[in-house]
Amino acid sequence: MTALSLKKVNKSFGSVHVLKDIDIEVEEGEFVVFVGPSGCGKSTLLRVIAGLEDASSGEIHIGDDLVNLTPPSKRGIAMVFQSYALYPHLNVRGNMTLALKQEKQPKEVIDERVEEASRMLDLAPYLDRFPSELSGGQRQRVAIGRAIVRQPKLFLFDEPLSNLDAALRMNTRLEIAHLHEQLGASIIYVTHDQTEAMTLADKIVVLRDGRVEQIGSPMELYNNPANQFVAGFLGSPA
Ligand code: ADP
Ligand code: MG
Repeated sequence: MTALSLKKVNKSFGSVHVLKDIDIEVEEGEFVVFVGPSGCGKSTLLRVIAGLEDASSGEIHIGDDLVNLTPPSKRGIAMVFQSYALYPHLNVRGNMTLALKQEKQPKEVIDERVEEASRMLDLAPYLDRFPSELSGGQRQRVAIGRAIVRQPKLFLFDEPLSNLDAALRMNTRLEIAHLHEQLGASIIYVTHDQTEAMTLADKIVVLRDGRVEQIGSPMELYNNPANQFVAGFLGSPA
């Protein structure tokens, strides 16, 4: 079953044509990594999928539904940004429950989901702390927890580890791989880190200047890069 399908998606800001005829399919449970140079349109593509920006043309399907006109909160998607943007005046529990309270979920449901997410992410001891009392890695885990409690079918991660130091990045990368196994949800993950792409992805989408350059498994791209650009990006001999 296809979780997400993009058909000839274009996005322009005024006269600037940022996304060009993007065709991508994400299967249920698949871990898809988007790579490409800074400015090639990765974040814009995630925002269009999430509904934070409208596509200029083309179709966005989630499961069986055409969602071009569906508001972000109704798309069954949760997004984790590079800048975690936690609410400083709310403690960890408050940050994780805000969206569920807005959805008017019953208290038992909220408590249960927070308990589950904080167990997965080792956040249970920190639920009463405020963001200023947490390390960078803990804050990033809260941002991920905030996405998990919403039980989305599709997670979008926009360079979530780029603000962490190398050791923490490796740790968190392992956690995300483990989470993916536990959740069984589809994940789209943007990174410019080649190791992250090669180790996490079922499928890699290489973007360049707003176009899809190549799509394939890490080994397919490594062994059979379509061109010098893809080869250069994945560090393999062309
Ligand atoms: P990436 O995430 O791959 O670094 P972005 O999606 O952030 O790239 O940006 C792609 C291009 O779209 C850039 O040239 C950027 O300047 C442009 N862009 C992104 N958002 C806007 C916007 N709101 N208005 C105008 N141009 C934008
Ligand atoms: Mg970006």
